[in-house]
Amino acid sequence: RAFLANIETANPRLNAYVLPTADKALDMARAADARLAKGEGGPLEGAPLGVKDLFCTDGVQTTAGSNMLKGFVPPYESTVTANLWRDGAVMLGKLNMDEFAMGSSNETSAFGPVVNPWKSGVSNADLTPGGSSGGSASAVAGDLCLAATASDTGGSIRQPAAFTGTVGVKPTYGRASRFGMVAFASSLDQAGPITKTVEDAAILLRSMCSFDPKDSTSLDVETPDWSQSLGKSVKGLRIGIPNEYVVDGMPAEQMELWEKGQAWLREAGAEIVEISLPHTKYALPAYYIIAPAEASSNLARYDGMRFGHRAAEAKSLTDLYETSRAEGFGKEVQRRLTIGAYVLSAGFYDAYYVRALKVRRRIAEDFDKVWDRVDAILTPSTPSAAFAIGDRQIDPVTMYLNDVFTVTANLAGLPGISVPAGLDKAGLPLGLQVIGKALDEATVFQVAGALE
Ligand code: GLN
Repeated sequence: RAFLANIETANPRLNAYVLPTADKALDMARAADARLAKGEGGPLEGAPLGVKDLFCTDGVQTTAGSNMLKGFVPPYESTVTANLWRDGAVMLGKLNMDEFAMGSSNETSAFGPVVNPWKSGVSNADLTPGGSSGGSASAVAGDLCLAATASDTGGSIRQPAAFTGTVGVKPTYGRASRFGMVAFASSLDQAGPITKTVEDAAILLRSMCSFDPKDSTSLDVETPDWSQSLGKSVKGLRIGIPNEYVVDGMPAEQMELWEKGQAWLREAGAEIVEISLPHTKYALPAYYIIAPAEASSNLARYDGMRFGHRAAEAKSLTDLYETSRAEGFGKEVQRRLTIGAYVLSAGFYDAYYVRALKVRRRIAEDFDKVWDRVDAILTPSTPSAAFAIGDRQIDPVTMYLNDVFTVTANLAGLPGISVPAGLDKAGLPLGLQVIGKALDEATVFQVAGALE
C-alpha cells in the first residue's frame, strides 16, 4: 500500500509506470499474507516489484513502449515473471521503457519520457533516468517499487542503474529465459533486476533465472545462491583494468571514481592488474550493426495482420503492411529497422553484417585471453552522469556513445553489474561496472559487494 500510494503521488511527475495494477497488487499481496500466515512462502514472499513493459504478463497489457502494441494483452506469462510470482513476489504494475528497448534515455517511448528522481545541483532541468529500462530505474530510485525487472541488450539495465544510483545486473547470456520477453536482438537480450542494493540484486536474479526448454538458448545450469558471495573478502582476487576504457571526453570525476574503486579494492586485498582488450573500439559499431539486423528480423512479425496495430484504411495488402508499420513504429525504431534491413541486404551482407560478426568474435576472444590473469574486470558504467531530457546536443550517434562501456559484455555474453559508487560535482550518481567470466556471477557479486 505504501508503494501504491507513492505511485499515486509521484508517477504523474516521473511517468515511470505506463500501467499501475493496484487491484492485482493487492490481490497478490493478500495471497502472500495468507501463505505467510500458514508458515509457507517463497524467498520473495510479498516483495512488491515493478515489471518492465517488455515482459509479457498474462491478461495484463504489454506494449514494449510502442504504439504498435498498445492494447496487446498477452495470453501467457514470461518465464522470468512467472518465476518471480512462483517465489511470492507481487506485481505493482508495468514500467515505461524506450520503444522496443531501443534507446539510452527513455525518450523513444510512445508513452513519453521518464523523469529521473535525481536533480542536478547546478540546473533545474528534468534529467533522463537512462534507458531503455528508464521506468524500472526511476521507479526503484523514486521508491515507486522495491525493485524491478529490466532487460539489457547493450546496456539497458546497467546504464539506467548508473544514472539513478541503483544497482543493475545483466547475467550471463542464457541464464534468464527470453520466453515471453518482447524480442529486440535475440543473441544479445538478457533479463535482470534493478534494485537498491547488491544483496537484493543477488536474491532477485536467482529467482529470475532458470533453465527453460521454451528458449532454445537457455542454459541448462544450476542457479547458485549468489547472496552467499556477499561479504566475502576480495583478498587475493585479481581485478583487471582495461586501458581501452579510457575514452575522450570522459569527465574527470568519472575517471577519479574509477581510480578510487581500484584503490578500495586494493585496500581490501585485491590485486589490480592492467589489461588490454584491443578490439574494444570496434564494439559499438559492431553492436549498432548486429542489434538493428536482428531487430529488423524480429520486428517483421508486426505486419498489421496477426497482432499489434492495424491501419484503419488500406488499399492493398502491401499498403496495409506499410501503413500499419509507419503508424505503429516511432522514429528510432524505424531508423533501426532501416539500418538492419540495409546491412542484411544481399549487396551489403558480407561488408557489414558478416564483418560485424567477425568483430564480435574478436571481442569475445579479447576477454577469453585475459581470464587466466584476472578474475573480474572493473570499468566505469557510463561515460557520463545523467543528462537533461530533450538535450538538443544529442544526435543519434552521440546517444549511441552512451553504451560504449556496456555493449562489450552483451557481445561476449558475459555477466556485468553496475553499482553506485559516488556523485559528480553536480551531485548526480555515477556507477562502476564489474564484468565477470561466463557463469561466474558469484565473483561479480563478490566484487560488487566490496564496492558498495
Ligand atoms: N542503448 C542501447 C540501444 O539503444 C541498448 C539498449 C538495450 O540494452 N536494450 O540499443
